[in-house]
Amino acid sequence: MPELPEVETIRTGLEPKLVGRTLARVEIDDPRLTRPHDPREIAAELEGETVEALERRGKYLVVRFVSDRALLIHLRMTGGLLLGAGGLPADDPYRRAVVRLDNGSDVAYRDVRRFGTWLLLEPGELDPYLDARVGAEPLGRGLTARRLAEPIARRRAPLKAIVLDQRLFAGVGNIYADEALWWARLHPLRPANEVTSEELAELVRGVRRALRLGIARQGATLRDYRSSDGASGSMQEEFRVYGRDGEPCRRCGHPIEKTRVAGRGTWYCPACQR
Ligand SMILES: [Zn+2]
Repeated sequence: MPELPEVETIRTGLEPKLVGRTLARVEIDDPRLTRPHDPREIAAELEGETVEALERRGKYLVVRFVSDRALLIHLRMTGGLLLGAGGLPADDPYRRAVVRLDNGSDVAYRDVRRFGTWLLLEPGELDPYLDARVGAEPLGRGLTARRLAEPIARRRAPLKAIVLDQRLFAGVGNIYADEALWWARLHPLRPANEVTSEELAELVRGVRRALRLGIARQGATLRDYRSSDGASGSMQEEFRVYGRDGEPCRRCGHPIEKTRVAGRGTWYCPACQR
């Protein structure tokens, strides 16, 4: 949390408010956000930059500046960005940074557990940085079963771990991995190298279906996630397996079970996921 649909929801909410605006004043109160760099130095570097585009790659938010520099934001566990048109409440103990735009509105970065990161990249640094960490966008044309077949055939890891690999399925985290495997009717513990090409195609379809549903529902609100205008998402009402142990499978009625795969809580239907 937050995963691709939550980050995309934040991006689409902020994009029209940020693009074309100049960062007039930047305050970063938490050294963990920018480490190993001094937060005051990063804040000073950001002041005066004008936003050219707000993009997303996997779970990263990418603020591209007209200068060709970029601010790469990873929300990790509990990070979020909130827009306040006429200022923000001053008493939020989890606020870590505030950006004042040239039109007087504020964007606040909030993070309860403080694992999120802000990384300022110089021109030319962004693409190599992302290419080393993030695979093709699952909702774009770059991700196909045909291209995944070769890397997956060499892996004996359980499918759940494969779906969590950011270089294969960018932006998918624990929630959408379980949901995708349910849609694909694939067991999370199946060794990846035993999956047929038809099943791999089902997996790609399942990942897309789960992510699209998440975007349509503006993300899942379990603990701290909020969209940029403070609204909750409703994807949690659509969960087929995640967090539903003991409840009936919506496809076959068998009770959903919980196990652990790759150290992560994993929910699945033992009857219709093979
Ligand atoms: Zn079932």
